[in-house]
Amino acid sequence: MDLPFYDRINDTLRNIEADGLLKSERVLAGPQQAMVSVRSHDVLNLCANNYLGLAADPRVIAASVAAANRWGAGLASVRFICGTQEIHKTLEAAAAEYLGFEDSILFAAAFDANGAVFEPLLGAEDAIVSDSLNHASLIDGIRLSKARRYRFSNNDMADLDRVLAQARTEGARTILIVTDGVFSMDGTIANLGAIADLADRHGALTLVDDCHATGLLGPGGRGSLAYRGVEGRIDILTGTFGKALSGSMGGFVAARRSVIDLLRQRARPYLFSNALAPAICGAALAAIDIARGPDGDALRQRLERNTSRFRAGLQALGFELLPGEHPIVPVMLFDAHKAKHMADELLSLGIYVTSFSFPVVPHGLARIRTQMSAHFADDQIDHAINAFAQAGRTLEIIQ
Ligand SMILES: *Cc1c(COP(=O)(O)O)cnc(C)c1O
Repeated sequence: MDLPFYDRINDTLRNIEADGLLKSERVLAGPQQAMVSVRSHDVLNLCANNYLGLAADPRVIAASVAAANRWGAGLASVRFICGTQEIHKTLEAAAAEYLGFEDSILFAAAFDANGAVFEPLLGAEDAIVSDSLNHASLIDGIRLSKARRYRFSNNDMADLDRVLAQARTEGARTILIVTDGVFSMDGTIANLGAIADLADRHGALTLVDDCHATGLLGPGGRGSLAYRGVEGRIDILTGTFGKALSGSMGGFVAARRSVIDLLRQRARPYLFSNALAPAICGAALAAIDIARGPDGDALRQRLERNTSRFRAGLQALGFELLPGEHPIVPVMLFDAHKAKHMADELLSLGIYVTSFSFPVVPHGLARIRTQMSAHFADDQIDHAINAFAQAGRTLEIIQ
């Protein structure tokens, strides 16, 4: 028995709590939708990535159930041994076709896709140039590769230019620029036009993680590439089915066929992990179908309207918001304790939000990250604005 080990664990937990950084789980008594039941209270949910409201959509659920009935609960095998069914191939083809790439490969999560993609493609002679606010899974995936690592300031194109020149000067063979399409804590949409131009100028490749954009941003919901008008100019895309595209789970990498072919040979989370469950593939296929069609257009229009209404309401009350067009609307509280109190107060008023503090966001930049969804009604948004007003006055954040 190594008792000092358990003492250290308990000390760390106590410190996390004392710093106001403890994250706790609230149990939902039902599916993920606009109104969720938390501790027997019905509350409006402003913190899901359920942008199109498809997580409990009857068409998506029916497709998921039908896939389980047709293909079984799961594969009990990795893909290359005996774990590939038609539905996996269909989903890979559908994701690639929807997003304008030659092929795609599925993973258990986008976290795995990002963990898988770098190591097989780049070696010690190569360089990865990564945005400073990139998602944790990109950071971890990059660490697993032998490529040299460079970092540029968040969405700062002058800095990216400088770092690309530095990587070239230091002899990099291939340079891969890596960025989130949307930075999830701020809702900033990456400046992909300038990134694609800089990639051309420096002869670099580009990878975009579009988890917070696929299905909801740009024409057809094709994501930040479509939104920024750079479709066909980005080399590799990673994405998730755990957000707008059904909210279930599963991730993918989309790219040229040769890149995907090599990932099937070498990507470790693909070679050593179970195939995606058929129910998940069914849900994702139905969600892609909805997202790319006229229903998707209507949902995106609704999402945009809801976002403008909510932003305008909070701004009029005097809250400090990070600017932007994405349905992520961060309300800045700066102090971790204050953000947590605000979230608790809002929950008691029927609004479910989560406060974000270190290490998810930098020290001193604690916030309540709210997220709009296409399935909110106007009166629900107005109710949320009124609750923010009341909680903000109680905690003396606004006047
Ligand atoms: C959510 C998210 C992920 C992880 O997606 P999962 O499929 O849930 O693992 C990766 N990258 C970004 C940018 C994300 O927002």
